[in-house]
Amino acid sequence: MSYHDAFQQGAWSTRKSSELFAIDKWGAGYFSINDSGDVVVTPAGSDGGPSLSLVEVAREIEARGMSMPVLLRIENILGSQIKLLHETFRKVIRDNGYRGVYKGVFPIKVNQQAQVVEAISQFGKEYNHGLEAGSKAELIAAISMLSNRDACLICNGYKDEEFIDLGLFAIKMGFQVFFVVEVPGEVDLIIERSRVHNISPAIGFRVRLSTQADGRWSDSGGDSGVFGLSVSHITDAIDRLKEAGMLHCLNLLHYHIGSQIPNISDIRAGAMEACRLYVELVKEGAPMGYLDLGGGLAVDYDGSNTNTHSSRNYSIEEYCCDIVESIITVLERDDIPHPTIITESGRAVVAYYSVLIFNILDVCSAEPPPIPTVLPEVDSDILENLMATYNNVSARDIQECCNDALFYRSHARQLFKHGHISLREKALAEDLAQHILLKISQLSRELDHVPRDVQTINRLIYDVYYGNFSLFQSLPDVWAINQILPTMPLHRHLEAPVRPAIISDITCDCDGKIDLFPGSAGNRRTIMLHPLNSGEEYYLGVFLVGAYQETLGDLHNLFGDTNVVSINVHDDGTYSFIRELEGDSVADVLSYVEYDIRATRTRLKRVAEEAIRRGHITPRERRTILDSFEDGLGGYTYFESE
Ligand SMILES: *Cc1c(COP(=O)(O)O)cnc(C)c1O
Repeated sequence: MSYHDAFQQGAWSTRKSSELFAIDKWGAGYFSINDSGDVVVTPAGSDGGPSLSLVEVAREIEARGMSMPVLLRIENILGSQIKLLHETFRKVIRDNGYRGVYKGVFPIKVNQQAQVVEAISQFGKEYNHGLEAGSKAELIAAISMLSNRDACLICNGYKDEEFIDLGLFAIKMGFQVFFVVEVPGEVDLIIERSRVHNISPAIGFRVRLSTQADGRWSDSGGDSGVFGLSVSHITDAIDRLKEAGMLHCLNLLHYHIGSQIPNISDIRAGAMEACRLYVELVKEGAPMGYLDLGGGLAVDYDGSNTNTHSSRNYSIEEYCCDIVESIITVLERDDIPHPTIITESGRAVVAYYSVLIFNILDVCSAEPPPIPTVLPEVDSDILENLMATYNNVSARDIQECCNDALFYRSHARQLFKHGHISLREKALAEDLAQHILLKISQLSRELDHVPRDVQTINRLIYDVYYGNFSLFQSLPDVWAINQILPTMPLHRHLEAPVRPAIISDITCDCDGKIDLFPGSAGNRRTIMLHPLNSGEEYYLGVFLVGAYQETLGDLHNLFGDTNVVSINVHDDGTYSFIRELEGDSVADVLSYVEYDIRATRTRLKRVAEEAIRRGHITPRERRTILDSFEDGLGGYTYFESE
């Protein structure tokens, strides 16, 4: 039964909306629908506490003079996710009698924005949550933001002399820095630089496991991985540390088999294999003490709780359990002390905290204008044939009607091509064909068996809702890797959404669309939306966009950074706007692609002056025209309505 029918059979309710959009499944306790039919955020998640209507926040943002689209960050969610991760690990550690602690680090690459790194460093303080840096720039950012000296600072990535020196100086200043050796050559460089500065480093080995995870980023593990040391590299690196008298610096084993690992069995297999290597390093005489399992803790973007790309078949508790149990099992055999557990969960910590909010600018309806009562006189009988087909559509002959509609439509196109019917006649023929297909589609909903061709038609009947955003700037993974991100209207959930639709952005690129949505019974090609009400904005949200989307976004069609608003929700349910960042202006994005704005102004003046000389415009008109160019340069790159 489709949702369309569900609506027709009874009154709509917020419960039906929750089910339709699967919000309770992907919302993780943070997002739900309230009794007024608004989507609300509950920053404390399943712990409860105050909720906030997102559409009200959107209206307040606009009242302050900021236009859509807006990236809304709910800072408390960062705190809630860090807390969830640590408290779950603590519980599992306690329950299993594990003799070690958990210390997480946040990999800066997942969201490098200064305010994110700062907030994580603050919220993570009581848990000793540290940072992971994969480049010199990220290391400098980490040193400037990390205030807790008991938290770890993990240095991954290719390291040159300067990178290592920066890390060594951080050690000297009291930071707990680990240099993770990614490629064999780094060992010698670390030995050399630590001698030059006379600073003793803590060293980790990034190992290449043979365990390969399912999922999109599986290439990070297994034989095809480009990062990490093979076993023969490891023995060689141990020998070099021994020769240098620095084996006592080897404290950590690191691996990363991929991001967004959907299958818990891969997580367990990776941990077991890494633990075997850990045991061997201890036997070689290294002090060790830290096991860093990298990232990979997945986010259930579509709420399906399955081992598919956009989901995961485990809970955070199961993730923690599998890691802790694996370590205990493998280390027990050799009676080796339990290490401090580190994970580098990025996605799982930040995904929930940002929501992209945009308004709908226009709708292109799948429904053609009504059929005229009298058909125009045409030489051909094409219109009569289409009309007759329309009148004869029945559930019994559904396949035949479908064939006829497609046949006559293609015939009409031929007639137009050869000059036998006019533009208006062709338009009418196309509209009639579309009416037939819609009627077929409606009737097919009552059938137990829907013929394949009709199923295809059903998938092609949808409205296009034009959203005020750029997919390439704000949701690059939807374009690049078909990532599913939960998307839904922020309000009107007391009303049935009756229009099947896809969402297009405002770039001129046909790839700039969202056409895959989570649903309770599997992913859907269309989303059900409400008809627009005149004089009222219709707001949509794309959720779980906190990880990777911001920095990977680009300037396609020169749509720039969106406005960003961060809020902090207080215990009494009030909230503060803590940070507002204006998005790029047109002048900003032009300067990113090397336009000199002063020179651009001069050129525009020259163009206008030339137009005066040719008599196209008056000097007064020149003033108006140049003023509006000036406004344009200073304005937002997205659609502004005033
Ligand atoms: C990208 C990356 C991470 C983050 O992975 P998530 O799946 O986002 O948690 C952690 N560690 C390393 C080495 C990475 O490259």
